[in-house]
Amino acid sequence: MIPIEKLLLQRGVKITDIAEIAFLLQIKYNPVLTMEECIVSVRTVLSKREVQYALYTGIALDNLAERKLLPEPLQSIMESDEPLYGVDETLALGITNVYGMIGLTSFGYLDKVKPAILQQLNNKANGIHVFLDDLVAGLAAAASARIAHGDANANQYDLPDC
Ligand code: MG
Repeated sequence: MIPIEKLLLQRGVKITDIAEIAFLLQIKYNPVLTMEECIVSVRTVLSKREVQYALYTGIALDNLAERKLLPEPLQSIMESDEPLYGVDETLALGITNVYGMIGLTSFGYLDKVKPAILQQLNNKANGIHVFLDDLVAGLAAAASARIAHGDANANQYDLPDC
């Protein structure tokens, strides 16, 4: 199994790209927040098996769509990034939900504003990232919500790997 950070990198996403978005979300509430804390938070979210499985699934579908290997109607839906598809957001919400309602509202905000690397991923010229844009938003929202809950408190929301 390919390490999750390597898989993300193969798709053009660095941990710092995700941490940057988490930082943007949290800095207004936590003025002493550092990028290092955000990087740790992203890596903690990424350490969860359910999060990794969501990433493996979504990235595989993006990859298959780029290679035109999906059956119809999925191939056409993925190529046009059909706005009513919605399965990409649903999968990403599985990541965000781990940290409660704050994660959910941040995810909605990111979906609208698309800051930083989300803008790049949303550009069709850069490949098919139907799932990855939402997964990265979900990761950033989760990492940010984890910081918002505070480390000690956040641990109560951490689900065990199973
Ligand atoms: Mg999408």
